[in-house]
Amino acid sequence: MALKKRLDFKEYTQGIFDGNKIILSKAITLLESSKKEDRDISLALLKFAFPKTGKSFRIGITGVPGSGKSTFIELLGQKYISLGKKVAVLTIDPSSGLAKGSILADKTRMEELSKERDAFIRPSPAGMTLGGLHRCTRQAMLLCEAAGFDIILIETVGVGQSETVIKKLADAVLLLMVTGTGDELQFIKKGIIEIADIIVVNKADEENVQSAEMVSKEIQANISYQESDLWKVPVLTSSSLNIKSFDKILSIIKLYETTLSNDNLIHKRRTENNIYWLHELSKQYVIEDFYNSPKIISLITNLEESLSNDSIIPEEAADQLLKIFKPIE
Ligand code: GDP
Repeated sequence: MALKKRLDFKEYTQGIFDGNKIILSKAITLLESSKKEDRDISLALLKFAFPKTGKSFRIGITGVPGSGKSTFIELLGQKYISLGKKVAVLTIDPSSGLAKGSILADKTRMEELSKERDAFIRPSPAGMTLGGLHRCTRQAMLLCEAAGFDIILIETVGVGQSETVIKKLADAVLLLMVTGTGDELQFIKKGIIEIADIIVVNKADEENVQSAEMVSKEIQANISYQESDLWKVPVLTSSSLNIKSFDKILSIIKLYETTLSNDNLIHKRRTENNIYWLHELSKQYVIEDFYNSPKIISLITNLEESLSNDSIIPEEAADQLLKIFKPIE
């Protein structure tokens, strides 16, 4: 490792272990870099942090835009802090462009939570999303754990068929739904409900109270359980206008956490997820190495030209590229 990098490394590790939020945010920006030269220091950081990871509870919050995710996280986060927990929130910043990192907390969306000493809010740029998360959300989560955060709240940008990656990251996935949108039927049909460990019919307030209750019963009736399931996905109603809702939410999350601790299910789930990430990261690294290789870059330019004058077909061009691509041994 070069001297400059080593100095950075010391500053990063010390800052992370001290729970310094600015350094933590800078370290996450480094992880988000797709530059090959940053991969070594990122890997070293993660390896260094690793012994201090794994002790937090990881909660994913998913749901369509407008279902109330950020309001919900703001209140859930405050609730955990009132119980003496340290809370990290990993979100995607919808306003950021491709390359722009976000050093500052997402003040506009979670104003009160961002003022808390024991909260850390880290929006990642929207450009590099993978299944509704940033491709480095997992690594960011690990650094937050090493920095001593007890609860990690991970917010997805939305929910869709490709946004099931949250299940590969979180110990508990909360799916927020709202009534009157037709989501409930869509979600059942598309199997999105299957990613949820806890379903919350949100905005159950004012004129929506009754319909929310009805929808929650309907969803509950449509979930099929196996006799052997240790956890039967509960469907709750909640309103961020009523802070008492969060007592119920918290106790259900706790119950789920206890269920997972039995038979070491949490370890099994995390191991399965790590195997998934081994494959995902390998694919990602191969693609990055491919497109960063100078030989590939120069041949691609030539091949694009050949395609423009119809002297080659795309299959042949791709084959030529692969033939000269030698991953670094
Ligand atoms: P997100 O896009 O899923 O993050 O949703 P937001 O948290 O930004 O909420 C979208 C809108 O719904 C905002 O205007 C919120 O004030 C409102 N909202 C959020 N939660 C509730 C709730 O429980 N009840 C009501 N009535 N409105 C809510």
